[in-house]
Amino acid sequence: MQLTPTYLNKLADSFPDIKLQAASNFKWSPDEQTVYYDQTDPDAAQYLLHEISHALLSHTNFSRDIELLKLERDAWDYASSQLADRFETTIDDDLVQDSLDTYRDWLHSRSSCPKCASTGIQNAANSYQCPACQQKWRVNDGRGCQLRRYKIK
Ligand SMILES: [Zn+2]
Ligand SMILES: [Zn+2]
Repeated sequence: MQLTPTYLNKLADSFPDIKLQAASNFKWSPDEQTVYYDQTDPDAAQYLLHEISHALLSHTNFSRDIELLKLERDAWDYASSQLADRFETTIDDDLVQDSLDTYRDWLHSRSSCPKCASTGIQNAANSYQCPACQQKWRVNDGRGCQLRRYKIK
């Protein structure tokens, strides 16, 4: 479902503490208490409810990649169980699974040891170490819901 001004107004009235801001992708910014949304996305309503769920669940920054997957899943669960009916949107399970798969792929590519391909242990926000060969590597800060747009291999 595309977003109409009426729909956006209904959301804004329902959640006065959350700012809604048109942008080129979807993102919840805890620092700005703002949900960014891409009006042109054909599934915009579903993603917008997902981002609002992050906001309502008070999701903030996290230190480990694995936490991101849990936050993603929680936000989809909340959107589909608490918000979908109220805002006349159906959360499509295939879309949710695709979105979560993108995070799983991302997590896998970040956590695989570049030397021996074992699964590394994240020891800081942007670094991993391999338990098998002790190799250390850094990862960039590519976190956020906009990930669903890019399959990182
Ligand atoms: Zn290794
Ligand atoms: Zn999300």
